[in-house]
Amino acid sequence: MSFNALVVRKDDEGKTSAQIEQVTLDDLPEGEVVVAVEYSTVNYKDGLCIGPGGGLVRNYPHVPGIDIAGTVESSEDARYKPGDKVVVTGWRVGENRWGGYAQKARVKADYLVPLPDGLSTHDAMAVGTAGFTAMLAVMALEDHGLVPGNGPVLVTGAAGGVGSVATAILAARGYEVAGVTGRPESADYMRGLGATQIVAREDINETVKRPLEAESWAGCVDAVGGAMLARVLGQMQYGASVAAVGLAGGAGLPATVIPFLLRGVNLLGIDSVMQPYDNRLRAWQRVASDLPMDKLATMIRPATLSDLPQLGADILKGQVQGRVVVDVN
Ligand code: NDP
Repeated sequence: MSFNALVVRKDDEGKTSAQIEQVTLDDLPEGEVVVAVEYSTVNYKDGLCIGPGGGLVRNYPHVPGIDIAGTVESSEDARYKPGDKVVVTGWRVGENRWGGYAQKARVKADYLVPLPDGLSTHDAMAVGTAGFTAMLAVMALEDHGLVPGNGPVLVTGAAGGVGSVATAILAARGYEVAGVTGRPESADYMRGLGATQIVAREDINETVKRPLEAESWAGCVDAVGGAMLARVLGQMQYGASVAAVGLAGGAGLPATVIPFLLRGVNLLGIDSVMQPYDNRLRAWQRVASDLPMDKLATMIRPATLSDLPQLGADILKGQVQGRVVVDVN
């Protein structure tokens, strides 16, 4: 029996193109569990894998989709049985193995997380890797002492996927949130998620001139990296932490070590791909308890497999607001 998948092919000149094709279970990679996929998402990495690959995809033809939510169809692993609702993020699914842009996926049982109570497969993909990572970032900041009432928490790339979910979670937990955006038209959207202060990207994007500025932020979830992260480090309160999540603005870090040495600022690395199972479970459970579903609903844009080539190009240009939920059926 064949089913639909978004297949990316590479021609002799190295040019990639993505189209919906019919594939079979025999085409899918090895693994113990077949999932009937219900929804997937579009993250920045998906944009790379739908398009030129960004060095992430080794073998073509390729089925991208780094996030999967659906129902177990068959399982050779005792932990899962047909009918179980599951979610998959990370482990390089959709990068070096076929992912969620198909009506079925075969994955290793170790990659799966049971969907927590209170989250549907649709909700889980509205969250996706971006939201899961935002949760990991908030958890890391709190593990390093962040509590409400210390002052504003800065979220960079705030209208994007990671930023939107981080803003909603932080606001719901009682933090004052300042969102950095390069899209002034997104200000109302960000206020709706709970941001009380909007910072223009150009006000914070410049190269560091003074290693220390006024102590403005009690914490930061940074989806941008580059010059913005370098600048933010010098604006953190004494002993505060920055969770470094993304590189939408660049992979460089043109910073000085002065904020670490004179203000005890912490730079916390956040990786969602290789997170151990126990922490994944904890993060998904925290998503279910901490992220208001009405706020999540305002971030969502629905899509189908045929929308993905365009959406992939859009997210690479920073033109996707919030989260895209892809109904693969
Ligand atoms: P999005 O494209 O949805 O969001 C990124 C946002 O960053 C944009 O919406 C835009 O926000 C801002 N931005 C884009 N370009 C620039 C620029 N040149 N300078 C400053 N700001 C910019 O992507 P995601 O939210 O899905 O991902 C954000 C980052 O996090 C990506 O780099 C991604 O690879 C990374 N990531 C890392 C993970 C990990 O495990 N560490 C997991 C998931 C994502 P605005 O318009 O509001 O300015």
